[in-house]
Amino acid sequence: MSKRFKGLICAYCAHAEAITGDHIFAREFFLNTRRANLPQAPTCEDCNNKKSILEHYLTTVLPFGAKHADASANLTSMVPKRLQKNRKLHRDLAEANTGSHIPIEDEKLAQLLCLIARGLNWHHWKVYVHHETHSVRSLTLSPVGVQFFNDCIFTQQAHCRVIENIGHGTFSYEGIQAKDDCALTFWRFSIYGGLSVTSDAFPAPSASQFVAFTCPRKLDAQLCRTLGVTNPLG
Ligand SMILES: [Zn+2]
Repeated sequence: MSKRFKGLICAYCAHAEAITGDHIFAREFFLNTRRANLPQAPTCEDCNNKKSILEHYLTTVLPFGAKHADASANLTSMVPKRLQKNRKLHRDLAEANTGSHIPIEDEKLAQLLCLIARGLNWHHWKVYVHHETHSVRSLTLSPVGVQFFNDCIFTQQAHCRVIENIGHGTFSYEGIQAKDDCALTFWRFSIYGGLSVTSDAFPAPSASQFVAFTCPRKLDAQLCRTLGVTNPLG
C-alpha cells in the first residue's frame, strides 16, 4: 500500500484503519487521458468495497445521460465492456428506451455523493465527519433547489471555499465550510457537464445539479425540512 495513506483513518467511515488510497471520483468516470492527479483519500477495506459497487453501477449508467463530449467517448469506448459484465443492467437500460435521459437509481447516486463529500472533506481540509456527531446527506436539485442553493447557501461567508474542475469538466464541484464548525459543509456537483436523469424523485428529466452536505446532527432535522430532503443518511 502507498506510504501516503499508511496508518491513517478511513475518510469514509472515520473510524477504521485505512488499507489503501481511494480515488474519490472513480477513475472509470474519466477517459484514460484525463486520469492524472485525481484526488484521493484513505479508505478501509469495507468502505472501499461498498464504494466500488456503487461506482460500478454509476460509471456504467451516468454516461448515458450526459451532454459532455467525454461522456460520449466513454460511452463508446468503455461502457460496452462494463455492460457485458452486467447483463441485467444492460437489459434494464435497453428496456428503458429513454432517448436523451436515463432512469437512475437515485439512492445509489445519493450514497456515492455522500461518500464523495466525506472524501473531499478529508482531501481539502483533513476533516473527518464522524457518524456520532454529524450526518451526511445528498439530494438532486429541482430548478427551485438550484436557485435556493445559489441564493441562500453558496453566497454565505465561508471559512473555506473550494471550486474545482477535474477531468476537463467530467466533474466540477464547489464546497464551502462553515466558520464555526469545520464539519458543517455544503457541496454542489456538476457531472459530465450536466446530466439529464429521471428517478423516483424526479420523474421528469430536468435535474442536473446534485448537492451533498455534512452537518451536526442537531441541525439535521431542521436542514432536511428546509431543503425537502427525504432520503436516508449517507
Ligand atoms: Zn471505512
